[in-house]
Amino acid sequence: MSEKEKEMEKLKKECLEFCYNHSLYEKGTYPVFGKGSLETKIILIGESPGYWESQKGEPFVGAAGKVLDELLENVGIKREEIYITNLINIRPPNNRDPKPEEIKEFAPYLERQIEIIEPEVICSLGNFATRFIFKKYNLGNKLEGISKIHGKIFEPQVTTEDIQNSLFEQKRRGIKGIKIIPLYHPAVATYNANMKEILKKDFKILEKFN
Ligand code: URA
Repeated sequence: MSEKEKEMEKLKKECLEFCYNHSLYEKGTYPVFGKGSLETKIILIGESPGYWESQKGEPFVGAAGKVLDELLENVGIKREEIYITNLINIRPPNNRDPKPEEIKEFAPYLERQIEIIEPEVICSLGNFATRFIFKKYNLGNKLEGISKIHGKIFEPQVTTEDIQNSLFEQKRRGIKGIKIIPLYHPAVATYNANMKEILKKDFKILEKFN
């Protein structure tokens, strides 16, 4: 097992333990941790598990997952070649939106997955993941609704503190050279068929990073 794999296994264990003790956790369901290649350049971040994900304990295995597979296949990417995860790891009741305090509680697990993988590209799927990633990478002033910024490439903004602390600090914080690409959440194509073409066009951008 590589060092990365060991670190990720340890993190997964910690995360699942946290989930099984969380008030959102419902007996008979599974929490969902990220899955995929740890050597990838690309991470996709969804919102939270849905019904099927919480039955199987894997990200994007329901209707939105089918759309995602099609979008990836269309650009020659297999899901196991990239890493797919979510903002929060337990399905909220009736698929409601995650609350700000829940996003904050689960954030350390997502942040550590990103640190372990050191991706070149982070795709945030939908408004919730995009809002979180934009704030994390100092892009708050560029944040707009997903319909305005989908498919565009952003780079983390370097703070005065980073400049003072030089390149080393930027590297340490994982912001050197990383690209942030907000995309529509694939679930939109499950209730609006026209969105599939927009998603397909946006996903094309991944061809050059894979
Ligand atoms: N929607 C998400 O955001 N994540 C999943 O894992 C499944 C559906």
